[in-house]
Amino acid sequence: MTDTSNRFRDFAARLLEHEGALVEPIEPQGLEAMLPGNLQQPLRAPEFLRLGFAAELPTGADRASLESDWLERFGELLGERGRRLKFAINAAAPPLGHIERTVEHNVALQNAVYRLSQTEQAWTRYLIFIFRYTAISDEKREGIIRFGFNLINGSAIDPMVDQMLASALDEGATETVTKPAASQLPADWTTERLKKAVTRALPVRVRAHLGQFVNGMQRRLDRDLDRLHEYFSGLREESWRKLKKAKGDAARERLRIEAAEREYQAKVADLKQKYDLRVNLEPVQTLELISQVQRVTLVIKRRKGERKLTLDWNPIARRLDSPPCEWSFVAEGSRVVCDDQLHIVSPPGHAPCPQCDREYCRVCSPRRCPKCGKEEKEAAGSGN
Ligand SMILES: [Zn+2]
Ligand SMILES: [Zn+2]
Repeated sequence: MTDTSNRFRDFAARLLEHEGALVEPIEPQGLEAMLPGNLQQPLRAPEFLRLGFAAELPTGADRASLESDWLERFGELLGERGRRLKFAINAAAPPLGHIERTVEHNVALQNAVYRLSQTEQAWTRYLIFIFRYTAISDEKREGIIRFGFNLINGSAIDPMVDQMLASALDEGATETVTKPAASQLPADWTTERLKKAVTRALPVRVRAHLGQFVNGMQRRLDRDLDRLHEYFSGLREESWRKLKKAKGDAARERLRIEAAEREYQAKVADLKQKYDLRVNLEPVQTLELISQVQRVTLVIKRRKGERKLTLDWNPIARRLDSPPCEWSFVAEGSRVVCDDQLHIVSPPGHAPCPQCDREYCRVCSPRRCPKCGKEEKEAAGSGN
């Protein structure tokens, strides 16, 4: 990722200079800046700032990778100006060589067949979202989630988001672009459609980011529960022993057992509260990227039905879109095609009903099973 870190360094240097800082490159792959007073606060940085962008850091430098919170701090510096950025990327798509093989490699439909109908040069728009999450239970975890969609088809572009961001930061790739006419670009999504997509896309991505954190939390909770259980079992056994031997006051031992039982339940409730997980999500930035692509049109056939699906091959990431999951917007995995409307969904979007065990499409019936009517709590984005 040397390329990415170089671009990030250039971007940071240009931004800081533009905002009035004195900037000097330092080795290896870093920069030193003298920040005027008005920059120190939004950047949460001292007057003399040293940043390192590669694995090896200059002496005393803070690490600024795309994973660090520096992307976010620069975002804050851009403020509302940077909330929604628009870039056009200059990258002509070369003709695709092994188009059949590329498609075969990317498209796994469990219950449908397809044929290639067309390939063409085209333009598309991608939306990339950057969210900050804060997860709090007995510990705290913070991080950044980046994901995006291709607006032509709703394909999740998570695997190429970093590359796209890096290209967008690279001025050379964006300044000489002749932007296409609006009619050549996919239309804006309605607010409702976009909101639905983001709310369904987020939970699965948050869960993936927090997997380790949640596992660690579960282990600590289990350990605490075990200890508690052991302690109160000891108390109970002791009281029972006394009761059996008819030593002491039986009524008093019974009260003691009951009190211990209540205390145990209360302590378990306390633990559950202590390990209760709350996750806050906050949008940091939305970027729109316009890019040239090689567009492939497939005709998908399921029983007697037929529909078209376009997939874009992006020349920057050198990747073809995965078929979208029109339910949860996950990037990976295979897809199922529904019988009625030929929606394309990931397997959880066509999972069996928990009551009658028959499969159905969640895009067709998001609220209840169409076969038995059982209501389903919208399992947003539980896709994997
Ligand atoms: Zn459907
Ligand atoms: Zn059912």
